[in-house]
Amino acid sequence: MADPLKYVRKNILALKPYSTARDEFKGGDISVWVDANESPYNNGVNRYPDPHQKLLKEKISLAKGGISVDSIFVGGAGSDEAIDITFRVFCEPGVDNAIVITPSYGVYGVAAAINDVALREVQLNDDFTLPVDKFLAAADEHTKLMWICSPNNPTGNAYAVEQLEALADSFDGILVVDEAYVDFSDKGSLLPRLPKHPNLVVLQTFSKAWGMAGLRAGMAFACKEIIDLYSRVKYPYNMNGPTQAELMKRMDCDISEKVSEIKAEAEWLARNLAKARCVRNVYPTDANFLLVKFDDANAMYDYLIDNGVIVRNRSTMPGCAGCLRITVGTPDENRRIMKLINEYNS
Ligand SMILES: *Cc1c(COP(=O)(O)O)cnc(C)c1O
Repeated sequence: MADPLKYVRKNILALKPYSTARDEFKGGDISVWVDANESPYNNGVNRYPDPHQKLLKEKISLAKGGISVDSIFVGGAGSDEAIDITFRVFCEPGVDNAIVITPSYGVYGVAAAINDVALREVQLNDDFTLPVDKFLAAADEHTKLMWICSPNNPTGNAYAVEQLEALADSFDGILVVDEAYVDFSDKGSLLPRLPKHPNLVVLQTFSKAWGMAGLRAGMAFACKEIIDLYSRVKYPYNMNGPTQAELMKRMDCDISEKVSEIKAEAEWLARNLAKARCVRNVYPTDANFLLVKFDDANAMYDYLIDNGVIVRNRSTMPGCAGCLRITVGTPDENRRIMKLINEYNS
């Protein structure tokens, strides 16, 4: 198996991380904490949080089938933080490049541009399947990363685990699979396959199925060697204490009922949208949103706004002409949207 460290930037391999006051403290029965220049007055947030999020990672490990805590990175700015760190760990600015599918999530492009990494965009097939031959043709010796979002935003479809594994095996670089919507998908996660693929990074988030977008918490999973580097590159206290505590509290609740409801509602919406006169196509979804092609997407977008409903206009994205992306709402919201669309121009 390929050594994933061979794709890492030399300065990152050599990096000595900042050592926090709490890193240097190795345990003992301490009752007076005067090592970190904090305020001594307890107001609930006067102490620095755990920079390694140890308890939170143990909880995530349990929730994710016992994956080793050494294989978990958590970010306090959502998975967007993990996306940025991935570029910083692997890509030499101005030299290395990365492959992305298009249409896909816009943050990969922004993070690449900030890090001065050239993106090689490979357009999905017309049915949004992966053009695997084109990926391998787009790669050269400076291609360090390949980004696949599955289920993909905004197309909604997920790729088979076996296909992504085959891609990881054939790609001479790091394959990053963004599974932000995986909890809604029946096609499964790559997480259980991680030990077989040292060049695989899997991203997940608390923002979608977990219902905690407001907390800004994301996760990356990879072999220990890669996660060690992410931990060195991250800001020392990259997730604040209240967020760590809130996540641990809220992770105890069961999201499966809400996920089932959203999946059932997605089916209801898809079925009804397909019958609407102004709709040309409803793409199959493995996520909590639908990509829908309208006769006139811009007019529909404006009409919905005039009626207090905001959807995402994706009609200028490659392969998405005429398309709006509609997130599944509550049953009441979905019925309101459907009523508006049925009343359009009638
Ligand atoms: C929403 C989304 C995320 C989540 O981002 P956070 O920063 O964790 O909120 C990640 N990837 C994709 C493709 C998304 O659509």
